[in-house]
Amino acid sequence: MAPRAQTFSLQRIIFLSVSVVLCLQVGWWIRLQIRDSGRLLEARTQALQAGRAQAWQMDSLKLLTLLHSQPDPSSPGGTVEGQVPAMPSLAERRKAIQEAFPQVELVPRPMAPDDPFLLDGAAFLTLRPAPLKELEDQRWHAVFRASTEGAFMVFAVLFGFVLLYRKLSEELDLKLRQRNFTSAVTHELKTPIASLRVWTETLFTRELAQEQRQRIRGLMEKDLERLNELVGNLLDVARAESGSLVLHLAPLELGPWLEAVCEGMDHRLGPGALGLKLECSSEPLWVDADPKALSTVVENLLSNAYKYSAEPRQTTVTLDGDGDDALIVVSDQGHGITAKDLPRVFHRFFRVGDEMTRQVAGTGLGLFLVKEIVTRHGGEVRVFSRGPGFGSAFTIRLPRRAIPETP
Ligand code: ADP
Repeated sequence: MAPRAQTFSLQRIIFLSVSVVLCLQVGWWIRLQIRDSGRLLEARTQALQAGRAQAWQMDSLKLLTLLHSQPDPSSPGGTVEGQVPAMPSLAERRKAIQEAFPQVELVPRPMAPDDPFLLDGAAFLTLRPAPLKELEDQRWHAVFRASTEGAFMVFAVLFGFVLLYRKLSEELDLKLRQRNFTSAVTHELKTPIASLRVWTETLFTRELAQEQRQRIRGLMEKDLERLNELVGNLLDVARAESGSLVLHLAPLELGPWLEAVCEGMDHRLGPGALGLKLECSSEPLWVDADPKALSTVVENLLSNAYKYSAEPRQTTVTLDGDGDDALIVVSDQGHGITAKDLPRVFHRFFRVGDEMTRQVAGTGLGLFLVKEIVTRHGGEVRVFSRGPGFGSAFTIRLPRRAIPETP
């Protein structure tokens, strides 16, 4: 596995493990909350039941006291008038019980299996349903609250983790891309410099025919152009990043300008090497643009079409009007781009990680610059590809302007 993929999968495993542990912790916390609320309910129910037992005791004690005080053997009439209170009625006993224990009531039949009957069997003592229901409601409320809080905690933790994971992945990705970029730039600078040194030595140390000298001069010019292009791209990217990439916008007719840029590139890359076909709308299309910066855009796209296509290349450039916009499409029949890489090709330093692409010289800055420049023109650039082997198409959309009046 590539080191980059390895680092990412290790990072993923760590994040997944930590998330699982946190979810388990929260699950455990919910379980404890539910258990505690169950215990609280049990204790409160027991307190209610203790009240029922106390009510029974109170009533029984009163009855027993009365029973013991009623017969008076020393009195001739059997009872002592004025000393013996009359036996209270059931209604009076109910009132007395309910005043002391509002959660208890007297019923003719038991409502729960353990409901006791009064000492004289006049009625049963039972707990009122309302306080019991209230307790049950409290329990469900506590369970609901614990679950909601737990779910919220899990959500918050996972959300935080996802954000952190994405941030770290981005940082890591950027770091790796930067590392690739450094080695790519070093290679890009060293190759033409080494080649120029060899050609210079050859020119100064050997007797060469005029033809050979001409050929070497052509090769040296290509190397210098390569260096110039690289330094230009690096400078533009630095300017774009620092916000000092200044565009000198002026009315530009796209048709003739595009023809000239394509011709220049065809000449630079070797006549016919691009297999270039240019199709321009006959309608005059004008935009406000910096011709030099916009040329960099098309040149980078054409250079990529050249680099990432095998021979014989087939490159098409079209220019058309689309409502209020002008549309330039640069398409090729080259390597193509996978769906996974499509959204990343405009990222700084990004280069597709397959060997085929890596063998091609590059820094991963070209498309970043393309996007910066097009966006600064108020336009939009997009990429399309049906996948590896099916070529790629880049569309540039620029806002049109009215045809300027000739002075
Ligand atoms: P560079 O070409 O210097 O690597 P770019 O920013 O121009 O950098 O492109 C980024 C990556 O996008 C390239 O490395 C390549 O993998 C991919 N790419 C760009 N243009 C094409 C194309 N026309 N066909 C296939 N892949 C492309």
